[in-house]
Amino acid sequence: MTFVPSLPPDLPAPRPTEIDAPFWQACAEQRLRFQHCPGCGHWQHPPLAQCEGCGAGGLHWDEPPGAPELFAWTRVHAMLHPAVQGHAPYLVAVVGWPQAGNLRLLSNLAETPGDAPAVGRALRLVWETVAGGQPVPRFALLDPSRQTQPPQDRPVRLQEPHHAASSLPAPL
Ligand SMILES: [Zn+2]
Repeated sequence: MTFVPSLPPDLPAPRPTEIDAPFWQACAEQRLRFQHCPGCGHWQHPPLAQCEGCGAGGLHWDEPPGAPELFAWTRVHAMLHPAVQGHAPYLVAVVGWPQAGNLRLLSNLAETPGDAPAVGRALRLVWETVAGGQPVPRFALLDPSRQTQPPQDRPVRLQEPHHAASSLPAPL
């Protein structure tokens, strides 16, 4: 297994706004909390002033149910910021919580097998720090030994368009 080092600990710290300050305050306590609407149950991130689902205000900050999983990822080779000089390539991951609707978090995979991790893989939360000691949430594969196996407990989404296409009339 290839170990991909984490990003450097002196990355610039986040500068919270009035809306996302509760997210970063929770991170400072190494807790992951997202906006959750008490009215319609919608989860959302990044934070907004109102619920994307029903428009209500007064959103709660709750820990999402269930376990995180890998929704999408990409390997970054370019030096997009001076702070990551010498640390590429690194993995940028979109993390999802299937039990929290379309809740997504853009983060990094702190370590990974060198190959392509399969979408749908279970992740574990890893806290790392940036400048000022601010904890930031990052993720690692829950079971790295399974790196070559596809998810076993869910359908392969790529089959769906195939079924849809088979119901169309054949081209002339
Ligand atoms: Zn709502």
